[in-house]
Amino acid sequence: MDAKDTSVAVIGGGFAGVACAKRLAEQPGTHVELFDRGGFHQFQPLLYQVATAELTFEDIRFDLARIFHHSDGVRVRKAEVVGVDPDAMTVSLDGGETVAADYIVLAAGARPNFFHTPGADEHAFPLYSVEDARHVRGRIVQLFEEASAKPELVDDGALTFVVIGGGPTGVETAGALSELVHDVLPHVYPDVPPGAAQIILVDLGHSLLSAFSEDAGTYAARQLQRRGVKLRLGVPVKEVGEEHVALADGTVIKTRLVVWGGGEQAAAIAGAAGLAQGRGGRIDVEPDLTVPGHPKVFALGDVANIPFGDEVLPQLGSVAQQAGRWAAENILLLSQGRAARPFHYRDKGIMAMIGRKAAVAEMGAHRHEIHGRVAFAAWLGVHAELLGNIGAELKAFVAWAEEFYVRPHHRSAALLEPSRIDMPRIDWAPQSQQSQQSQGQQKG
Ligand SMILES: Cc1cc2nc3c(=O)[nH]c(=O)nc-3n(C[C@H](O)[C@H](O)[C@H](O)COP(=O)(O)OP(=O)(O)OC[C@H]3O[C@@H](n4cnc5c(N)ncnc54)[C@H](O)[C@@H]3O)c2cc1C
Repeated sequence: MDAKDTSVAVIGGGFAGVACAKRLAEQPGTHVELFDRGGFHQFQPLLYQVATAELTFEDIRFDLARIFHHSDGVRVRKAEVVGVDPDAMTVSLDGGETVAADYIVLAAGARPNFFHTPGADEHAFPLYSVEDARHVRGRIVQLFEEASAKPELVDDGALTFVVIGGGPTGVETAGALSELVHDVLPHVYPDVPPGAAQIILVDLGHSLLSAFSEDAGTYAARQLQRRGVKLRLGVPVKEVGEEHVALADGTVIKTRLVVWGGGEQAAAIAGAAGLAQGRGGRIDVEPDLTVPGHPKVFALGDVANIPFGDEVLPQLGSVAQQAGRWAAENILLLSQGRAARPFHYRDKGIMAMIGRKAAVAEMGAHRHEIHGRVAFAAWLGVHAELLGNIGAELKAFVAWAEEFYVRPHHRSAALLEPSRIDMPRIDWAPQSQQSQQSQGQQKG
C-alpha cells in the first residue's frame, strides 16, 4: 500500500456494506476489507418466499467473494467482528486478529428484538436470515408430517401458526403462510383434514402497518382476512411457550410455531463498539453518516439511526443501499482533505406484499398510495433495483415474479416434496456465481 493509499474496514456484507465496498472499489488506491460472519449477502426482502417454499435457500444467498471477484481493491473476509475500537481505529476478529484501518464502516444490520417477552427468545422463530427461513420451513413441514400421521394433534395446535407483529414483516409473513397452508400444503398432505391449519396474527396496536396510512392498514387487514388469517389486534403477547402463546387478555393459543415479526434492534456489534446507542440500540449518526466524535467512523443501514428532519429513516434496503454509496463518497472526499456531505435520501416510498396480486405501496416522498396489482408491480420494480445493485440477473427475477403472479404455487409444492433436492434454482445470481452454484448443485 502506498503512503497516500486509504484503507477501509467494512463490517457487514448486507445492502449497506456491499454498496459501500462497490463504490470504493472503483477508486484506485482504496483498499477495502469487507468482513461478514457468513461470507454471503442475504436478500432479506425475499426471506418469506424461502420460508414458505417459493424459493430455495440458495436463490437469495449471494457469495460475497464472487460479488467482488473482479474488484482487486476489495478483500472479502468471512469472519465475525467482535470488537471495534473507534479511538485506535481497529477492529478485532473472532480468531483474535486485530485489523487497523483509516476508516471504519459499521454496516452490521439488525437482529430480532423480543422486548423481554418471556419465552420469546427461546420458543419463537425469527425471520432475519436464510438459516431462520430454513428453520421456519422445516418446522412447517415437520408439523404437517406429524398432523398427517396423527390428525388428533390438530386439536393441540399442531397446525395453528401464530405470527407476532402487525408491521410489514408480520403482515407479509402471515400472507405468505396463509397461501402456503391453504393453497399448497393440502396437495402435499391430502390426509390432513381441509381447513385444519390456521394463521393468527397478534399485535398490540389496533391496526396493521402503523407506518402506513389508515387506509393501507385497513386494506392489509381485509386482504389477510380474505386469505383466512385471524387478527388479534390491540392485545399484547404476555408469554411464548413451547406449545402455546399467552395473551395479556387471558387468551391462551395452542401452537407449535410462533413466527416473530415483533421488532428489531441493532446487531450486537453496535454495543461492543463502545459508541453511544440510541433507539433500538442503533448508533445515532451525524447527517453525513459519521459517528459523533469519530469523523472517520461511519454507521449505516439497520445498525444506525440516520437523521431525517425531526425523525430517523426507516430500516429499509433502499436506505441501507443509498447510505452505503454515500458513505463511500464521503470517505473519498475526506481522504482528499475535503469535507463530508450530509446524506440525501431519495425516498421511493414504503410497501408491503400481502400475497399474490395484493400489495400496498405508498410511493415517493409524498406517499401516493396504491393497492393491488399496481402496487405489486411497484414492489417488483423496487426489489429488482435492489437485486440489480448487488449484481443479480434481473431477467430471471422478473421471470420468477411473473410466474409467481400468474401460476400460483408451481414451485412451492415441489420444494416441499422430500425429493426436492433436485429442484432447480432461479438463475438470478450474478454471472460469476452461477457456475459456482451449479457446481454446488452437482455436489448436492
Ligand atoms: C423479513 C424481512 C423482510 C424485509 N423486506 C424488505 C423489503 O421488502 N424492502 C426493503 O426495502 N427492506 C426490507 N427489509 C429490510 C432490509 O432487508 C434491511 O433494511 C436491510 O437488509 C438492511 O441492510 P444492512 O446492510 O444494514 O444490513 P443487513 O442486510 O442485515 O446486513 C448485515 C450483514 O452484517 C453481517 N454481520 C452482522 N454482525 C456482524 C459481525 N459482528 N461481524 C461480521 N458480520 C456481521 C450479517 O451477517 C449480514 O450479512 C426486510 C427485512 C426483513 C428481516
